[in-house]
Amino acid sequence: MNLIGHGKVEIVERIKTISDFKELHRIEVKRQLAHEIVSIAYGFLSPLKGFMNYEEVDGVVENMRLPNGVLWPIPLVFDYSQNEKVKEGDTIGITYLGKPLAIMKVKEIFKYDKLKIAEKVYKTKDIKHPGVKRTLSYADAFLAGDVWLVREPQFNKPYSEFWLTPRMHRTVFEKKGWKRVVAFQTRNVPHTGHEYLMKFAWFAANENQKVDEPRTGILVNVVIGEKRVGDYIDEAILLTHDALSKYGYISPKVHLLSFTLWDMRYAGPREALLHAIIRSNLGCTHHVFGRDHAGVGNYYSPYEAHEIFDSINEEDLLIKPIFLRENYYCPRCGSIENEILCDHKDEKQEFSGSLIRSIILDEVKPTKMVMRPEVYDVLMKAAEQYGFGSPFVTEEYLEKRQSILG
Ligand SMILES: [Zn+2]
Repeated sequence: MNLIGHGKVEIVERIKTISDFKELHRIEVKRQLAHEIVSIAYGFLSPLKGFMNYEEVDGVVENMRLPNGVLWPIPLVFDYSQNEKVKEGDTIGITYLGKPLAIMKVKEIFKYDKLKIAEKVYKTKDIKHPGVKRTLSYADAFLAGDVWLVREPQFNKPYSEFWLTPRMHRTVFEKKGWKRVVAFQTRNVPHTGHEYLMKFAWFAANENQKVDEPRTGILVNVVIGEKRVGDYIDEAILLTHDALSKYGYISPKVHLLSFTLWDMRYAGPREALLHAIIRSNLGCTHHVFGRDHAGVGNYYSPYEAHEIFDSINEEDLLIKPIFLRENYYCPRCGSIENEILCDHKDEKQEFSGSLIRSIILDEVKPTKMVMRPEVYDVLMKAAEQYGFGSPFVTEEYLEKRQSILG
């Protein structure tokens, strides 16, 4: 299976021009694979250099370990239709939206029990779980092998404003003088509860630092990819988080916004570990995990993503988790609190996503206590510009949304 005489450098050098590329057998990939290829190539998913082979998938599914012992919670597979004429050892060209994107050195072609992936990774075989649904709808065979991009990806607006590779993240952290960076994962438009989670996390990550200069930063890293009806549209998530620092609610001295191309698996605890790995690859030192991190429906308990870290050795993760519980607005205290901090939980006003959604759907501006007025204004502008009039994903958005990669 291992080819001899086809070192990595040689492959990349051989494919220098588009006409070289055109000589290869080409496969057009769907969005998910295109995004994963970009993420792999830039090192968001390091140490992976490509798509997993049988042994790797099996180690990850069974023990959350790659064969070399590295912690890895979610299989990364390249499913393909066997109508494509591909053999082990081939170098194939990968196109996306009809344009050359990458090359792949196919090391192995294999099959794996998709139901087993579902049961182990998602802890359910229920087809209603979106991660299970995607897993079971994979084609029957998988290609394993390293990938290389053949061109720098071009992003459409507004993504282009927030695209940073892992290396660029580290450079910006250094420029800002950040010694510690706490990652905040989001797929939401920020309400004030989120804002306070970020601020609480900043304090936790900043522990024991002197007060004279902000040397701890917050990286808001949005997961951009597959959407479900009712989610906030991706463009609005980016632009509203940007508005928080633009309008001074979090100083730009301690705030940075970027994104990772990744289709959420909703794998709850296992996905929390993956997010930790990705953000450690970006150079973050800490990572916030709130209630119901990366969960969906009632498949995982609210703090299951916290509990999984009990079984992980510290040396397996180069990032420190910060566990936060849900907060609420306490009218008696006049501030954002949680059940440990204040004793007025009977009077609490929760930040209910569905309540905020219904307020917005009624085209009413939420109170300042819930959402910053500028954030709301930016949200509605993004709805007009990118959401076909809606800040939430609709069937129309799914069908006609602009592509992320140009
Ligand atoms: Zn209170």
